[in-house]
Amino acid sequence: MLWRGRRQSDNIEDQRSDGGGLGGGLGGDGQFRIPIGGRTGGGGSILLVILVVLAGWYFGFDPSQILGDGGGQITEDTSSQNGGSPANDEMKQFVATVLAETEDTWTGIFKSQGLTYEDPKLVLFSGQVRSACGFASAAAGPFYCPGDHKVYLDMSFFQQLDQQFGASGEFARAYVVAHEVGHHVQNLTGIMGKFNQMRQGMSEADANQLSVRIELQADCFAGVWAHYTAQKGMLEQGDIESALNAAKQIGDDTLQKRMQGYVVPESFNHGTSQQRQTWLARGYKSGKLSDCNTMSGPI
Ligand SMILES: [Zn+2]
Repeated sequence: MLWRGRRQSDNIEDQRSDGGGLGGGLGGDGQFRIPIGGRTGGGGSILLVILVVLAGWYFGFDPSQILGDGGGQITEDTSSQNGGSPANDEMKQFVATVLAETEDTWTGIFKSQGLTYEDPKLVLFSGQVRSACGFASAAAGPFYCPGDHKVYLDMSFFQQLDQQFGASGEFARAYVVAHEVGHHVQNLTGIMGKFNQMRQGMSEADANQLSVRIELQADCFAGVWAHYTAQKGMLEQGDIESALNAAKQIGDDTLQKRMQGYVVPESFNHGTSQQRQTWLARGYKSGKLSDCNTMSGPI
């Protein structure tokens, strides 16, 4: 991805030296995460397990994907906690540039619809963080919190994406950011509020199905963003393939197969590898929001 030398967003909040801030309970609005197979280590406390399972039930993500196998230890990088190693600073610049590109793209799209886009903040954290959606650990992956309009990212996830999930490449990382920004777009347009309303009183299986539709739309929105990024000449050979590969590697079926050896379709809440690739590709191909209607019809 040809990102160097381009504008970097001012909407980055670097909280990597804060070390989180324990004490916040889970609560507030649901978080929308990229599911990953990481966990907090072999001896995770029972309380944490219960909290994650409860949160999973409430927020509609599959706890096994957070508590599941995979040995996704988040490596302690002391240098990043003290402000950042050169590699980390470059990664921060990359994230700030991708965020700026999403700002420009979505500002333009909203304007064309007579709407005003409001930039989200992106919080970089290390290990753990407190958001308006409650306390979160890096092991649960990047997420968007509708309550404070912020995307939360521990950049060690990029390493995990590469090494544990076999999804390498800058554009795979850009897709992760763009997917979370896609949830922000859903929040601004009221889709997410409607989703949260509809989910009330639903069975877990139905709520999961609805969650899949929301997640696939965020993938499609990431694709729309990628469409405009390509138009600006920022994509290199293999970029789209690396994003599509990431979508494949974090599909529910692929993740479950890797982590537990079998799949439980009723528990899918982000979509299969096939679905995630299809919707990302659909948004990318046309760049039209109207092609991202995952809420009705077959997916
Ligand atoms: Zn998501």
